[in-house]
Amino acid sequence: YEAKQQHVRVLVYRAGDDEHHLRQVGLMGVLRHALELHQFRLLFQPKIDLPSRRVVHVEALLRWNSPQYGDVSPDEFIPLAERSGMIRAITRHVIDEALRQAAPWIADGLIEGVAVNLSPMDLVDGDLTDYVAQRLQAHDVPPCSLVLEVTEHTVMRDLEVARANMHQLRGQGVRLSIDDFGTGHSSLAQLRSLPVDEIKIDKSFVADLGSGNDDAVIVRSAIEIGHNMGLKVVAEGVEGPVSLAILESLGCDMVQGYLISRPLPADAFVAWCMRYQRGPVEG
Ligand code: C2E
Ligand code: MG
Ligand code: MG
Ligand code: MG
Repeated sequence: YEAKQQHVRVLVYRAGDDEHHLRQVGLMGVLRHALELHQFRLLFQPKIDLPSRRVVHVEALLRWNSPQYGDVSPDEFIPLAERSGMIRAITRHVIDEALRQAAPWIADGLIEGVAVNLSPMDLVDGDLTDYVAQRLQAHDVPPCSLVLEVTEHTVMRDLEVARANMHQLRGQGVRLSIDDFGTGHSSLAQLRSLPVDEIKIDKSFVADLGSGNDDAVIVRSAIEIGHNMGLKVVAEGVEGPVSLAILESLGCDMVQGYLISRPLPADAFVAWCMRYQRGPVEG
């Protein structure tokens, strides 16, 4: 009887497991055709300068709408794209699309640059530098107007190769940003050895700023570390005016978050930008 009970428990556990596994396998199968079927699109979220409140950069964030699965979050499909080798094509698509769409905004002076997220595998792709150079030229965008965001975790996975690639990209004039700063396991010495221009403090430290926990101490330290290394410091996930005020008082250089704007489709972003430049409205 006991054995039977155990058996049942095992079956129940594996049923949940299988469900997850089935979704992964299913997603991977349809993800393979998502690019050619034009199921991807980019949303754009502004990063604004403090204290001027000027829109400086815009981050391109990838969205996948699958007819079978609906909207799938990048947190779910990017890891799958990495496992299936699709990431190379997806990253290239994002770089090309982000540059194509942002080129006129940059030329018109609406923004200074556009930011694109890279995945771990992109930083070990030896041809990425050439691809970036070629697309910058094709869209007539100056290299300093492209920001590539890499997570701390990404860089640390294969530090030497990542560093070499980052030096190549930086040598070209492209800007580099360490995303989700504070969530990885890098040492300060390792960070200092990387050719980066900015750090983005992870939103988990920013969300509850001002509610009397340790987050303010962490954010203050991150800003000091960044500034001591000569880097710009960005805070992501700014959702309320209290967080914004604290970040400003701590000398944070740029902020990004729902308080300023949610990620928007290209045309809505341009409309938002025009309205915002006439006089920022704060929540
Ligand atoms: P990330 O690069 O750290 O982007 C920040 C995420 O926080 C985005 O989620 C953004 O929509 C969200 N966000 C922005 N403001 C706020 C806020 O005030 N509050 C909260 N709670 N969230 C906010 P999203 O778009 O779902 O992207 C999730 C992650 O997926 C990104 O994190 C990035 O790591 C990855 N990702 C997105 N697009 C791409 C891409 O084109 N390529 C690669 N490799 N990764 C991407
Ligand atoms: Mg990012
Ligand atoms: Mg982030
Ligand atoms: Mg993230």
